[in-house]
Amino acid sequence: MNLHEYQSKALLRQQGMPVPHSALITSHADIPKALAEISTDKVVAKVQVHSGARGKAGGVVVLPKEEIAVQEFCNKFLGKHLVTVQSTAEGQPVDQILLEEAADIDKQFYLALTLDRACRELILMVSAEGGVEIEEVAEKHPEKILKVSLDLTTGVQPHHARYIGFDLLGLSKEQIKPFYGILTAAYQSYLDYDLSMLEINPLITTKSGDIVCLDAKLSVDESALYRQSVIRDYRDLSQEDPKEAQAQEHDLTYIALDGTIGCLVNGAGLAMATMDLIQYAGGQPANFLDVGGGATQERVTAAFKIILQDPNVAAILVNIFGGIVRCDLIAGGIIAAVKEIAMTQPVVVRLQGNLAEEAYQILAESGLNIHVAHDFLEAAEKVVSLAGE
Ligand code: GDP
Ligand code: MG
Repeated sequence: MNLHEYQSKALLRQQGMPVPHSALITSHADIPKALAEISTDKVVAKVQVHSGARGKAGGVVVLPKEEIAVQEFCNKFLGKHLVTVQSTAEGQPVDQILLEEAADIDKQFYLALTLDRACRELILMVSAEGGVEIEEVAEKHPEKILKVSLDLTTGVQPHHARYIGFDLLGLSKEQIKPFYGILTAAYQSYLDYDLSMLEINPLITTKSGDIVCLDAKLSVDESALYRQSVIRDYRDLSQEDPKEAQAQEHDLTYIALDGTIGCLVNGAGLAMATMDLIQYAGGQPANFLDVGGGATQERVTAAFKIILQDPNVAAILVNIFGGIVRCDLIAGGIIAAVKEIAMTQPVVVRLQGNLAEEAYQILAESGLNIHVAHDFLEAAEKVVSLAGE
């Protein structure tokens, strides 16, 4: 789950990270009060959306500390959508604007913490070339992004701060101690908030030598939300794909993709294998969807409805392994769903396991546009061919 910049900064501030003084604007009425809290003569107005590259899209600007200038910015963005190179074509809705004290930037760095799944370690990523061009740096000069793996038993150590601070970032002797403080607070935030990603871009030095987090982007591991009661309430569904949010309401895991073949599968591993086999057979999956262990009729119907909201879906592959679930009940669920939604797209069903033969019997007798396949590859080939027709 992604957080807004203002939420990320509130969490980082609690851990002692240096973030600019700020105020949040949700309507024009908030502007005078927000300005009163700012003591610099320039302010930075920042659109709050779950997307990077806001700066390049005009969503982050330095303004004189004047009501009229902030009002103009709010007129332009509040209640509208911001389209960035990272967002969809319609963009992300803007419901909040963060007003911050402007910083006098000397240098801009990049700092991130994430999990390296291959090494099973936390890695710290740092670059002396932070700011809005970091994607280009990553693409053209990956050697300019230093990756340091952190041992989970010892965490961030002073030598990390000295090595990165002196050698890579060119910090002064006086800046190493606060920089070490930032690294340890970032590390502690990662653990305490169950993050999957922490990104500060840019982390800056000011002309007076201070180090400040100017931007912050946190992603929280959704499996840990049950124990993150504060962060749980930070969820902003307006920023998420409505299909993914709807899936979550039904305890389904749905991820939208670009292809034409809808997938309805139980179990994440089988769902991944299904997507692989669709591609092997020459097609492209329209989504990842895991109905989970308790694949009931209601959830199967909900899953079909979500899959079909994607206009690119030309055919659906249902791939269920009946371990605990009964395949005959699933077959009943599929028939009920196809009838309820009046589905016109062809459906290919492959069921294996508990009461599978009974299930095939039920499907064969339904008289609906449901194709069956007993074999996994046969199912994939069938659905790819039907989607192409
Ligand atoms: P992003 O484009 O979504 O990553 O938004 P950022 O918060 O990173 O802002 C984009 C850019 O605006 C930064 O890289 C800075 O160059 C600039 N910026 C942000 N805050 C300030 C500030 O306080 N002072 C100045 N001079 N520039 C800023
Ligand atoms: Mg940024």
